[in-house]
Amino acid sequence: MHNVVILGSGPAGLTAALYTARANLSPLLIDGSQPGGQLTITTDVENFPGFPKGIMGPQLIMDMRAQAERFGTAFRQGHVTKVDLNTRPFSITIDDEETIQAKTLIISTGASANLLGLSSESRLMGHGVSTCATCDGFFFRGKEIVVIGGGDSAMEEATFLTKFATKVTIIHRRDTLRASKIMQDRAEKNEKITFRWNSTIDEMLGDDVVTGIRVRDVKSKQVEDLSCAGIFVAIGHTPNTSLFRGSLDMDEAGYLVTQAHSSATNIPGVYAAGDVQDSQYRQAITAAGSGCMAAIDAERFLESHE
Ligand code: NAP
Repeated sequence: MHNVVILGSGPAGLTAALYTARANLSPLLIDGSQPGGQLTITTDVENFPGFPKGIMGPQLIMDMRAQAERFGTAFRQGHVTKVDLNTRPFSITIDDEETIQAKTLIISTGASANLLGLSSESRLMGHGVSTCATCDGFFFRGKEIVVIGGGDSAMEEATFLTKFATKVTIIHRRDTLRASKIMQDRAEKNEKITFRWNSTIDEMLGDDVVTGIRVRDVKSKQVEDLSCAGIFVAIGHTPNTSLFRGSLDMDEAGYLVTQAHSSATNIPGVYAAGDVQDSQYRQAITAAGSGCMAAIDAERFLESHE
C-alpha cells in the first residue's frame, strides 16, 4: 500500500514527488507515456526562475527527477490503464498487468497539444514547427511566422510572436474566429498580423528546417506556397483525462476541476496538478507550483485520516 501515488512525470508530478518525499511519505511516481512531459520536447527554457542563463528542457526535467529521487521517490515506468476511485484505498492498474493500492493519488498527466496530423508536421517539429510560442518564439527574431488556428490560443500566440517576428500570418480554416472579442481585437489591431481565411494546410515545407507552408483555399481549392521560418500550431490542447471520465469532475474541454485555492478534486484524497487541470497558464513554473500544492494537500489529508 502506497501513501501517495503520482501519475505523470512533468514538472507538476516531479514537484509533488519532491515535496511528498521530503514529508517522508515515500511516494511512487508512475512515468506515463511521455516521460518528463512537454519539457522534454522543448529546447532552451529561459523563463524558469533560478536559471539566469536558461536551461535545456530535458536537463531541467532530469534535475527535477534527481532531486525527487534524492529524498526517496520511487519511480516506475509504465502506463496506467485503469483506476478505481470508488473506494479507498484507490486501485491503480499499470500496463493492464499489475494493480497497486494508494491512500492518496496525485494526477499530473498533463495535456497534449493538438496537431494537424501531417507527416511533415511531425518531421519538422522542433525544427521550425512548434506548439508553444512562449517557449520558442524567441528563436524567430526577425523572421516571418505562421500561426494556425482561430481560437484564443492562436490570437495570444500570434500577438506574443509579433515581439520577435517581422510578420505573423494567422491561418484559419473558416472566415470567423472562435477567439473572444478582446483577443480578436488585439490581434486585428496589431500591424504585424495578417489573416488568411478559409484556408487549410496541405503540407509543411522544408528538408531540415521549415521554409514554408502549403495552403489550400477551401472555397477556390487553389493551393499556394507561403514562405516562413516558423509554424506555430495553436489548435487547442487535449488534457490527458480519459482514464478519469465518469469518476472525476471535468469541464467541457475535459480539464479536471479542482476546488478554489486547492488541488482537491471531487473525490477526497485525489488531487490534480499541472496542465491536466489548467487550460489558462500552462507553464512549467505554474505546473510545478500546483504540484507543490497537491503534495501539501495530500500530506494534510493523510495526517487528518491517520
Ligand atoms: P479552441 O478555443 O478550441 O480553438 C481551437 C481553434 O483551432 C479553433 O479556431 C478551431 O477552428 C481550430 N482548429 C481545431 N482543429 C483544427 C484543425 N484540425 N485544423 C485547423 N484548425 C483547427 O482552443 P484554444 O484556442 O487553445 O483555447 C482553449 C481554451 O483556452 C478556450 O476556452 C480559450 O478561451 C482558453 N484560452 C484563453 C486564453 C486567454 O484568455 N488568455 C488564452 C488561450 C486559451 P474552428 O474555430 O473552425 O473550430
